[in-house]
Amino acid sequence: MKDIPGAVILSVGTELTEGVIQDSHVRFLAAELHALGFAVQRGMQLPDDAAAFRAELARAADEADLVVVTGGLGPTTDDLTREVAAGLAGVPLEFHQEAWDRILARFAGRAVPESNRKQATAPAGFALLPNANGTAPGFSGRIGRALVVALPGPPAELRPMFTDLVVPMLRGRFALGDAPQLLRGTAFMTPESALEEALRKCRREGVAWGTRVEEDRIAFSLRGGAAAEREIFFRSLVSALGPVRVCREEIRPARLLIDALAASGLVLVTAESCTGGLVGRYLTDVPGCSRWYWGGVISYADAAKERLLGVPGRVLEQHGAVSAETVSAMARGALAVSGAGLSLAVSGIAGPDGGTADRPVGTVWIATALAGAPPAAFACRFSGGRDAVRRKAAVAGLLAAAAAAAGRPFLDTPVAW
Ligand code: ATP
Repeated sequence: MKDIPGAVILSVGTELTEGVIQDSHVRFLAAELHALGFAVQRGMQLPDDAAAFRAELARAADEADLVVVTGGLGPTTDDLTREVAAGLAGVPLEFHQEAWDRILARFAGRAVPESNRKQATAPAGFALLPNANGTAPGFSGRIGRALVVALPGPPAELRPMFTDLVVPMLRGRFALGDAPQLLRGTAFMTPESALEEALRKCRREGVAWGTRVEEDRIAFSLRGGAAAEREIFFRSLVSALGPVRVCREEIRPARLLIDALAASGLVLVTAESCTGGLVGRYLTDVPGCSRWYWGGVISYADAAKERLLGVPGRVLEQHGAVSAETVSAMARGALAVSGAGLSLAVSGIAGPDGGTADRPVGTVWIATALAGAPPAAFACRFSGGRDAVRRKAAVAGLLAAAAAAAGRPFLDTPVAW
Protein backbone atom coordinates (compact mmCIF):
# COMPACT_ATOMS: atom_id res chain seq x y z
CA MET A 1 0.00 0.00 0.00
CA LYS A 2 1.35 3.42 -0.87
CA ASP A 3 1.74 5.99 1.90
CA ILE A 4 -0.91 8.61 2.22
CA PRO A 5 0.72 12.07 2.12
CA GLY A 6 0.08 14.26 5.15
CA ALA A 7 -0.99 17.90 5.02
CA VAL A 8 -1.14 20.80 7.46
CA ILE A 9 -3.16 23.98 6.91
CA LEU A 10 -2.07 27.25 8.58
CA SER A 11 -4.48 30.19 8.38
CA VAL A 12 -2.60 33.36 9.25
CA GLY A 13 -4.28 36.52 10.48
CA THR A 14 -4.86 38.21 13.82
CA GLU A 15 -8.47 38.81 12.66
CA LEU A 16 -8.89 35.04 12.96
CA THR A 17 -7.28 34.55 16.35
CA GLU A 18 -9.17 37.52 17.80
CA GLY A 19 -12.47 36.15 16.52
CA VAL A 20 -13.18 39.09 14.21
CA ILE A 21 -13.73 36.81 11.22
CA GLN A 22 -14.49 33.14 11.00
CA ASP A 23 -11.94 30.86 9.36
CA SER A 24 -13.46 29.38 6.23
CA HIS A 25 -10.16 28.33 4.66
CA VAL A 26 -9.35 25.42 6.96
CA ARG A 27 -12.77 23.96 6.28
CA PHE A 28 -12.55 24.44 2.52
CA LEU A 29 -8.96 23.27 2.19
CA ALA A 30 -9.37 20.32 4.56
CA ALA A 31 -12.31 19.01 2.54
CA GLU A 32 -10.51 19.54 -0.76
CA LEU A 33 -7.24 18.00 0.41
CA HIS A 34 -9.02 15.06 2.00
CA ALA A 35 -10.93 14.47 -1.23
CA LEU A 36 -7.66 14.60 -3.17
CA GLY A 37 -6.23 11.85 -1.00
CA PHE A 38 -4.23 13.71 1.67
CA ALA A 39 -4.42 12.90 5.35
CA VAL A 40 -4.99 16.32 6.89
CA GLN A 41 -2.98 16.26 10.12
CA ARG A 42 -4.20 19.60 11.47
CA GLY A 43 -5.56 22.97 10.49
CA MET A 44 -4.99 25.98 12.70
CA GLN A 45 -5.24 29.74 12.99
CA LEU A 46 -2.22 31.87 13.81
CA PRO A 47 -1.87 35.58 14.60
CA ASP A 48 0.23 37.95 12.48
CA ASP A 49 3.16 37.26 14.77
CA ALA A 50 6.46 36.33 13.15
CA ALA A 51 7.83 34.18 15.97
CA ALA A 52 4.66 32.11 16.44
CA PHE A 53 4.21 31.72 12.69
CA ARG A 54 7.85 30.71 12.16
CA ALA A 55 7.64 28.08 14.87
CA GLU A 56 4.44 26.53 13.50
CA LEU A 57 5.62 26.61 9.89
CA ALA A 58 8.90 24.97 10.88
CA ARG A 59 7.06 22.24 12.79
CA ALA A 60 4.59 21.66 9.94
CA ALA A 61 7.37 21.55 7.33
CA ASP A 62 9.06 18.93 9.46
CA GLU A 63 6.01 16.74 10.00
CA ALA A 64 3.93 17.03 6.82
CA ASP A 65 4.44 16.47 3.11
CA LEU A 66 2.34 19.49 2.21
CA VAL A 67 1.77 22.74 4.11
CA VAL A 68 -0.83 25.20 2.84
CA VAL A 69 -0.50 28.69 4.31
CA THR A 70 -3.30 31.20 3.79
CA GLY A 71 -3.18 34.97 4.25
CA GLY A 72 -0.38 37.33 5.14
CA LEU A 73 0.47 38.14 1.52
CA GLY A 74 -0.77 41.71 1.58
CA PRO A 75 1.42 44.81 1.17
CA THR A 76 1.58 45.87 4.83
CA THR A 77 4.26 45.18 7.44
CA ASP A 78 2.05 42.74 9.36
CA ASP A 79 1.86 40.56 6.23
CA LEU A 80 4.67 38.17 7.05
CA THR A 81 4.23 35.03 4.99
CA ARG A 82 6.91 35.82 2.39
CA GLU A 83 9.56 36.81 4.93
CA VAL A 84 8.92 33.86 7.25
CA ALA A 85 8.90 31.32 4.41
CA ALA A 86 12.09 32.75 2.92
CA GLY A 87 13.77 32.77 6.33
CA LEU A 88 12.96 29.11 6.95
CA ALA A 89 13.97 28.10 3.42
CA GLY A 90 17.27 29.96 3.99
CA VAL A 91 16.88 32.06 0.84
CA PRO A 92 16.38 35.79 0.22
CA LEU A 93 13.25 37.30 -1.26
CA GLU A 94 13.42 37.62 -5.01
CA PHE A 95 11.66 40.32 -7.07
CA HIS A 96 9.58 39.08 -10.02
CA GLN A 97 9.15 41.65 -12.77
CA GLU A 98 6.24 39.75 -14.38
CA ALA A 99 4.35 39.75 -11.07
CA TRP A 100 5.02 43.48 -10.71
CA ASP A 101 3.75 44.05 -14.27
CA ARG A 102 0.53 42.24 -13.38
CA ILE A 103 0.09 44.39 -10.28
CA LEU A 104 0.65 47.55 -12.33
CA ALA A 105 -1.87 46.31 -14.91
CA ARG A 106 -4.44 45.72 -12.14
CA PHE A 107 -4.02 49.29 -10.98
CA ALA A 108 -4.72 50.36 -14.59
CA GLY A 109 -2.63 53.51 -14.65
CA ARG A 110 -3.45 54.65 -11.09
CA ALA A 111 -0.52 55.34 -8.77
CA VAL A 112 0.69 52.12 -7.14
CA PRO A 113 1.84 52.50 -3.52
CA GLU A 114 5.49 51.59 -3.08
CA SER A 115 4.48 49.08 -0.41
CA ASN A 116 2.86 46.94 -3.11
CA ARG A 117 6.30 46.13 -4.57
CA LYS A 118 6.60 43.62 -1.76
CA GLN A 119 3.76 41.64 -3.34
CA ALA A 120 5.91 41.01 -6.41
CA THR A 121 8.48 39.14 -4.31
CA ALA A 122 8.70 35.49 -3.28
CA PRO A 123 11.37 33.32 -1.64
CA ALA A 124 14.16 32.79 -4.19
CA GLY A 125 13.68 29.60 -6.18
CA PHE A 126 9.98 29.32 -5.32
CA ALA A 127 7.36 29.21 -8.08
CA LEU A 128 4.85 32.06 -8.30
CA LEU A 129 1.12 31.30 -8.40
CA PRO A 130 -0.59 34.09 -10.37
CA ASN A 131 -3.71 35.56 -8.79
CA ALA A 132 -6.37 36.35 -11.39
CA ASN A 133 -8.66 38.04 -8.86
CA GLY A 134 -6.35 40.17 -6.74
CA THR A 135 -2.92 41.74 -6.47
CA ALA A 136 -1.05 39.22 -4.29
CA PRO A 137 0.34 36.20 -6.13
CA GLY A 138 0.84 33.02 -4.15
CA PHE A 139 3.99 30.89 -4.23
CA SER A 140 5.14 27.35 -3.70
CA GLY A 141 8.44 25.72 -2.89
CA ARG A 142 10.23 23.36 -0.60
CA ILE A 143 10.93 23.95 3.09
CA GLY A 144 12.49 20.97 4.81
CA ARG A 145 10.68 17.85 3.58
CA ALA A 146 7.44 19.65 2.78
CA LEU A 147 6.04 21.39 -0.25
CA VAL A 148 4.81 24.74 1.08
CA VAL A 149 2.04 26.51 -0.81
CA ALA A 150 1.11 30.07 0.21
CA LEU A 151 -2.19 31.56 -0.93
CA PRO A 152 -3.81 34.98 -0.35
CA GLY A 153 -6.46 35.42 2.36
CA PRO A 154 -9.55 36.65 0.49
CA PRO A 155 -11.72 33.59 -0.27
CA ALA A 156 -12.60 34.83 -3.77
CA GLU A 157 -8.88 34.82 -4.58
CA LEU A 158 -7.83 31.70 -2.68
CA ARG A 159 -10.50 29.28 -3.92
CA PRO A 160 -10.01 29.68 -7.69
CA MET A 161 -6.22 29.64 -7.22
CA PHE A 162 -6.44 26.44 -5.24
CA THR A 163 -8.76 24.74 -7.72
CA ASP A 164 -7.13 25.98 -10.92
CA LEU A 165 -3.43 26.03 -10.00
CA VAL A 166 -2.73 24.08 -6.82
CA VAL A 167 -4.85 20.97 -7.45
CA PRO A 168 -3.16 20.20 -10.82
CA MET A 169 0.24 20.83 -9.20
CA LEU A 170 -0.52 18.45 -6.31
CA ARG A 171 -1.75 15.77 -8.68
CA GLY A 172 1.55 16.09 -10.55
CA ARG A 173 3.72 15.90 -7.42
CA PHE A 174 2.01 13.36 -5.20
CA ALA A 175 0.81 9.83 -5.89
CA LEU A 176 -2.83 10.56 -5.10
CA GLY A 177 -4.71 7.82 -6.93
CA ASP A 178 -6.89 8.48 -9.94
CA ALA A 179 -10.50 9.41 -9.46
CA PRO A 180 -11.47 11.11 -6.22
CA GLN A 181 -13.60 8.80 -4.11
CA LEU A 182 -16.39 11.26 -3.68
CA LEU A 183 -19.76 12.38 -4.92
CA ARG A 184 -20.49 16.10 -4.77
CA GLY A 185 -23.93 17.57 -4.43
CA THR A 186 -25.83 20.72 -3.46
CA ALA A 187 -28.80 21.21 -1.17
CA PHE A 188 -31.10 24.21 -1.57
CA MET A 189 -33.77 25.74 0.66
CA THR A 190 -32.81 23.39 3.47
CA PRO A 191 -31.61 24.39 6.93
CA GLU A 192 -28.22 22.93 7.86
CA SER A 193 -29.77 20.93 10.70
CA ALA A 194 -32.41 19.40 8.40
CA LEU A 195 -29.74 18.42 5.89
CA GLU A 196 -27.63 16.87 8.63
CA GLU A 197 -30.61 14.86 9.84
CA ALA A 198 -31.40 13.66 6.30
CA LEU A 199 -27.75 12.72 5.75
CA ARG A 200 -27.78 10.75 8.98
CA LYS A 201 -30.96 8.91 8.01
CA CYS A 202 -29.74 8.08 4.51
CA ARG A 203 -26.16 7.15 5.52
CA ARG A 204 -24.51 4.07 4.00
CA GLU A 205 -21.78 1.83 5.27
CA GLY A 206 -18.30 3.31 4.86
CA VAL A 207 -19.47 6.61 3.36
CA ALA A 208 -18.66 9.80 5.28
CA TRP A 209 -20.01 13.25 4.44
CA GLY A 210 -19.04 16.88 4.69
CA THR A 211 -21.09 20.04 4.23
CA ARG A 212 -20.25 23.67 3.53
CA VAL A 213 -22.87 26.38 4.06
CA GLU A 214 -22.83 29.15 1.47
CA GLU A 215 -25.07 32.19 1.06
CA ASP A 216 -27.42 30.53 -1.43
CA ARG A 217 -26.85 26.78 -0.96
CA ILE A 218 -25.17 24.06 1.08
CA ALA A 219 -22.48 22.19 -0.80
CA PHE A 220 -22.01 18.64 0.39
CA SER A 221 -19.85 15.67 -0.47
CA LEU A 222 -20.20 11.96 0.16
CA ARG A 223 -16.77 10.47 0.62
CA GLY A 224 -15.21 7.05 0.75
CA GLY A 225 -16.91 3.66 0.65
CA ALA A 226 -17.92 1.92 -2.57
CA ALA A 227 -19.15 4.01 -5.50
CA ALA A 228 -22.42 2.04 -5.49
CA GLU A 229 -22.97 2.86 -1.80
CA ARG A 230 -22.39 6.58 -2.44
CA GLU A 231 -24.90 6.44 -5.27
CA ILE A 232 -27.57 4.76 -3.10
CA PHE A 233 -26.85 7.31 -0.35
CA PHE A 234 -27.32 10.18 -2.81
CA ARG A 235 -30.53 8.76 -4.27
CA SER A 236 -32.13 8.26 -0.89
CA LEU A 237 -31.20 11.85 -0.02
CA VAL A 238 -33.03 13.00 -3.17
CA SER A 239 -36.06 10.93 -2.11
CA ALA A 240 -35.92 12.34 1.43
CA LEU A 241 -35.60 16.03 0.52
CA GLY A 242 -37.11 16.04 -2.98
CA PRO A 243 -35.50 16.64 -6.37
CA VAL A 244 -35.99 20.42 -6.18
CA ARG A 245 -33.89 20.62 -3.02
CA VAL A 246 -31.00 18.35 -3.97
CA CYS A 247 -28.87 18.10 -7.05
CA ARG A 248 -25.66 16.49 -8.15
CA GLU A 249 -22.42 18.48 -8.33
CA GLU A 250 -21.81 21.77 -6.64
CA ILE A 251 -23.86 24.44 -8.35
CA ARG A 252 -25.33 27.82 -7.48
CA PRO A 253 -29.09 28.31 -7.96
CA ALA A 254 -28.50 31.08 -10.49
CA ARG A 255 -26.24 28.81 -12.54
CA LEU A 256 -28.86 26.06 -12.39
CA LEU A 257 -31.40 28.53 -13.81
CA ILE A 258 -29.07 29.84 -16.53
CA ASP A 259 -28.29 26.24 -17.54
CA ALA A 260 -32.03 25.42 -17.68
CA LEU A 261 -32.65 28.54 -19.80
CA ALA A 262 -29.80 27.64 -22.15
CA ALA A 263 -31.14 24.08 -22.50
CA SER A 264 -34.65 25.29 -23.30
CA GLY A 265 -33.68 28.35 -25.34
CA LEU A 266 -35.85 30.59 -23.14
CA VAL A 267 -34.91 34.16 -22.18
CA LEU A 268 -35.85 35.26 -18.67
CA VAL A 269 -37.21 38.56 -17.35
CA THR A 270 -37.60 39.34 -13.63
CA ALA A 271 -40.01 41.53 -11.70
CA GLU A 272 -38.80 42.02 -8.14
CA SER A 273 -40.31 43.75 -5.17
CA CYS A 274 -39.02 42.69 -1.73
CA THR A 275 -35.77 41.27 -3.16
CA GLY A 276 -34.91 44.68 -4.61
CA GLY A 277 -32.75 43.30 -7.43
CA LEU A 278 -31.12 40.43 -5.56
CA VAL A 279 -32.42 37.91 -8.09
CA GLY A 280 -30.85 40.02 -10.81
CA ARG A 281 -27.60 40.21 -8.88
CA TYR A 282 -27.40 36.44 -8.49
CA LEU A 283 -28.13 35.98 -12.19
CA THR A 284 -25.57 38.55 -13.29
CA ASP A 285 -22.96 36.91 -11.05
CA VAL A 286 -22.95 34.11 -13.67
CA PRO A 287 -20.57 35.01 -16.50
CA GLY A 288 -22.25 34.81 -19.89
CA CYS A 289 -25.76 35.21 -18.49
CA SER A 290 -26.66 38.00 -20.92
CA ARG A 291 -27.78 35.56 -23.62
CA TRP A 292 -30.46 34.20 -21.29
CA TYR A 293 -31.25 37.04 -18.90
CA TRP A 294 -33.06 40.00 -20.48
CA GLY A 295 -33.06 42.05 -17.30
CA GLY A 296 -35.72 43.05 -14.85
CA VAL A 297 -37.81 45.60 -13.11
CA ILE A 298 -37.53 46.55 -9.45
CA SER A 299 -41.14 47.48 -8.79
CA TYR A 300 -41.14 48.25 -5.09
CA ALA A 301 -44.01 50.70 -4.63
CA ASP A 302 -47.51 49.77 -5.76
CA ALA A 303 -47.34 52.65 -8.25
CA ALA A 304 -44.25 51.07 -9.83
CA LYS A 305 -46.05 47.75 -10.12
CA GLU A 306 -48.92 49.52 -11.87
CA ARG A 307 -46.90 51.78 -14.15
CA LEU A 308 -43.93 49.62 -15.05
CA LEU A 309 -45.68 46.27 -15.18
CA GLY A 310 -49.33 47.15 -15.75
CA VAL A 311 -50.55 45.46 -12.56
CA PRO A 312 -54.21 46.63 -12.35
CA GLY A 313 -54.90 48.97 -9.43
CA ARG A 314 -57.94 46.95 -8.44
CA VAL A 315 -55.81 43.77 -8.10
CA LEU A 316 -53.51 45.62 -5.70
CA GLU A 317 -56.47 47.05 -3.79
CA GLN A 318 -58.41 43.82 -3.54
CA HIS A 319 -55.60 41.35 -2.90
CA GLY A 320 -52.66 43.43 -1.70
CA ALA A 321 -49.11 43.62 -3.07
CA VAL A 322 -48.18 40.29 -1.45
CA SER A 323 -50.64 37.92 -3.08
CA ALA A 324 -50.95 35.28 -5.76
CA GLU A 325 -52.94 37.69 -7.91
CA THR A 326 -50.35 40.49 -7.75
CA VAL A 327 -47.26 38.34 -8.43
CA SER A 328 -49.12 36.65 -11.29
CA ALA A 329 -49.95 40.07 -12.76
CA MET A 330 -46.31 41.16 -12.26
CA ALA A 331 -45.13 38.01 -14.09
CA ARG A 332 -47.55 38.67 -16.97
CA GLY A 333 -46.56 42.33 -17.12
CA ALA A 334 -42.85 41.48 -17.21
CA LEU A 335 -43.43 39.18 -20.19
CA ALA A 336 -45.37 41.92 -21.95
CA VAL A 337 -42.75 44.66 -21.48
CA SER A 338 -39.81 42.44 -22.47
CA GLY A 339 -41.04 39.92 -25.00
CA ALA A 340 -39.08 37.29 -23.02
CA GLY A 341 -40.18 33.66 -22.96
CA LEU A 342 -40.20 33.19 -19.17
CA SER A 343 -40.78 35.57 -16.30
CA LEU A 344 -40.19 35.41 -12.57
CA ALA A 345 -41.94 37.71 -10.10
CA VAL A 346 -41.30 38.00 -6.36
CA SER A 347 -43.25 40.04 -3.81
CA GLY A 348 -43.17 39.61 -0.05
CA ILE A 349 -42.88 41.04 3.42
CA ALA A 350 -39.21 41.04 4.41
CA GLY A 351 -39.80 42.88 7.69
CA PRO A 352 -39.08 43.92 10.30
CA ASP A 353 -42.36 45.87 9.86
CA GLY A 354 -45.30 45.32 7.56
CA GLY A 355 -46.46 41.93 8.79
CA THR A 356 -50.09 41.23 9.70
CA ALA A 357 -51.79 38.30 11.43
CA ASP A 358 -52.63 36.53 8.17
CA ARG A 359 -49.51 37.76 6.31
CA PRO A 360 -46.68 37.75 8.83
CA VAL A 361 -43.11 38.86 8.10
CA GLY A 362 -41.57 36.18 5.89
CA THR A 363 -44.66 35.75 3.72
CA VAL A 364 -43.52 35.81 0.09
CA TRP A 365 -45.30 35.07 -3.17
CA ILE A 366 -43.39 33.91 -6.23
CA ALA A 367 -44.82 33.52 -9.73
CA THR A 368 -43.36 32.12 -12.90
CA ALA A 369 -44.96 32.52 -16.30
CA LEU A 370 -44.14 31.03 -19.66
CA ALA A 371 -45.23 33.14 -22.63
CA GLY A 372 -48.70 32.07 -23.73
CA ALA A 373 -49.47 30.11 -20.56
CA PRO A 374 -51.09 31.14 -17.27
CA PRO A 375 -48.67 32.03 -14.46
CA ALA A 376 -48.04 29.59 -11.61
CA ALA A 377 -47.92 31.21 -8.16
CA PHE A 378 -46.24 29.78 -5.05
CA ALA A 379 -46.80 30.87 -1.46
CA CYS A 380 -43.70 30.85 0.72
CA ARG A 381 -43.06 31.33 4.41
CA PHE A 382 -39.44 32.14 5.24
CA SER A 383 -37.94 32.46 8.70
CA GLY A 384 -35.25 34.90 9.84
CA GLY A 385 -34.60 38.63 9.66
CA ARG A 386 -34.91 40.94 6.67
CA ASP A 387 -31.68 39.79 5.02
CA ALA A 388 -32.50 36.10 5.42
CA VAL A 389 -36.04 36.51 4.07
CA ARG A 390 -34.82 38.43 1.01
CA ARG A 391 -32.04 35.93 0.33
CA LYS A 392 -34.36 32.97 0.71
CA ALA A 393 -36.97 34.62 -1.52
CA ALA A 394 -34.37 35.20 -4.23
CA VAL A 395 -33.08 31.62 -4.05
CA ALA A 396 -36.60 30.13 -4.10
CA GLY A 397 -37.44 32.37 -7.07
CA LEU A 398 -34.37 31.20 -9.01
CA LEU A 399 -35.24 27.56 -8.34
CA ALA A 400 -38.91 28.06 -9.24
CA ALA A 401 -37.85 29.64 -12.54
CA ALA A 402 -35.34 26.83 -13.18
CA ALA A 403 -38.14 24.27 -12.69
CA ALA A 404 -40.42 26.24 -15.04
CA ALA A 405 -37.70 26.47 -17.71
CA ALA A 406 -37.07 22.74 -17.49
CA GLY A 407 -40.81 21.91 -17.54
CA ARG A 408 -40.53 20.28 -14.11
CA PRO A 409 -42.85 20.79 -11.14
CA PHE A 410 -41.67 23.11 -8.37
CA LEU A 411 -42.60 22.55 -4.73
CA ASP A 412 -46.07 22.02 -3.35
CA THR A 413 -47.13 25.17 -1.59
CA PRO A 414 -46.46 26.59 0.91
CA VAL A 415 -42.71 26.66 0.53
CA ALA A 416 -41.31 26.78 4.05
CA TRP A 417 -37.63 27.37 4.80
P1 ATP B 1 -4.52 41.03 0.97
O1 ATP B 1 -3.66 41.23 -0.21
O2 ATP B 1 -6.00 41.23 0.64
O3 ATP B 1 -4.11 41.77 2.20
P2 ATP B 1 -3.63 38.67 2.39
O4 ATP B 1 -3.09 37.45 1.76
O5 ATP B 1 -2.70 39.52 3.16
O6 ATP B 1 -4.42 39.45 1.28
P3 ATP B 1 -5.17 38.74 4.75
O7 ATP B 1 -4.81 40.20 4.86
O8 ATP B 1 -4.64 37.80 5.72
O9 ATP B 1 -4.79 38.21 3.31
O10 ATP B 1 -6.73 38.60 4.64
C1 ATP B 1 -7.47 39.41 3.75
C2 ATP B 1 -8.95 39.18 3.96
O11 ATP B 1 -9.26 37.87 3.54
C3 ATP B 1 -9.38 39.22 5.41
O12 ATP B 1 -9.72 40.50 5.84
C4 ATP B 1 -10.62 38.33 5.38
O13 ATP B 1 -11.73 39.04 4.91
C5 ATP B 1 -10.23 37.27 4.38
N1 ATP B 1 -9.66 36.09 5.03
C6 ATP B 1 -8.37 35.89 5.37
N2 ATP B 1 -8.19 34.71 5.94
C7 ATP B 1 -9.39 34.12 5.99
C8 ATP B 1 -9.85 32.87 6.47
N3 ATP B 1 -9.02 31.98 7.02
N4 ATP B 1 -11.16 32.58 6.36
C9 ATP B 1 -12.00 33.49 5.81
N5 ATP B 1 -11.63 34.68 5.31
C10 ATP B 1 -10.34 35.00 5.41
